Amino acid sequence: MDFSLTPFEAVADRVYVAVAEPATVNVGLVVGTTGALLVDTGSSPAQGRAIREAAASVLGEAPLTDVVVTHAHFDHCYGLSAFAGPRTWGHRNLPEAREHERLAEELAELGLTRGDLALPARTFSLAATIDLGDCHAELVHFGPGHTTADVAVHVPARGVVFAGDLLESAPFAWAGPDSSLADWPRTLDGTLGTLRRDTVVVPGHGPAMDRAAAFIQRAELAWLEATLVALWDAGTAVEHVWDSTSDWPLPRAQAEEIAAVRFAQYERAGRPRRRPLPLLRPTHS
Ligand SMILES: [Zn+2]
Repeated sequence: MDFSLTPFEAVADRVYVAVAEPATVNVGLVVGTTGALLVDTGSSPAQGRAIREAAASVLGEAPLTDVVVTHAHFDHCYGLSAFAGPRTWGHRNLPEAREHERLAEELAELGLTRGDLALPARTFSLAATIDLGDCHAELVHFGPGHTTADVAVHVPARGVVFAGDLLESAPFAWAGPDSSLADWPRTLDGTLGTLRRDTVVVPGHGPAMDRAAAFIQRAELAWLEATLVALWDAGTAVEHVWDSTSDWPLPRAQAEEIAAVRFAQYERAGRPRRRPLPLLRPTHS
């Protein structure tokens, strides 16, 4: 597996983003006068150490004081054990969210063991504030969306928001078995309502977005859920969803994978499907 890291590049005043592989994940760095905050930690302890070194080269003598993981997925969270020293932050649902059913398989694929993983020392339920001197960062959780433990990082003085995987610009936000697509648009509204016209929105994956692009993806997520509900109710099979409309805002393979996940969730929730009426059968005389 390719573990690599680009240098940190500025996206706003003393706010930087590096891109880590695998998964082309954005790693953020916010530098204040008394401290610095890292947003997400990469896919392994070794990658976490590489991120720490890259951050140190940007920071110079300034200390890395805080590290936040935006959610429990491997590409954001599994580098956390490389950050002994700084305060580490995450949502209080994160420990439970990390214990998913594919964990052992995923660790094997990454060449890791459970002992390589760490949890944040500090958790919160709604919000936490990190003082960085001449600016502060607000860590906020507005409810279920991409996962049950999503954290968005708002840095108002720098005009930047890190959205984690609540937004993705390449190719499109990912809804998996641990996502709540029906709640996701309303959860995003908490963050979107704070954006100014010139706010830089850093998604979990892909290039930075502007406010309009974030608004559009919110609408597309709502469209996706409404469309999947309608297709489920009509009894459409997953292999036929793509041909039902040409309006998909995401690639075919991703649309079909999300449809399969969502249909399984509807099934588990006991959502009825509209069935065609039974055909009249000829009766024997
Ligand atoms: Zn994710």
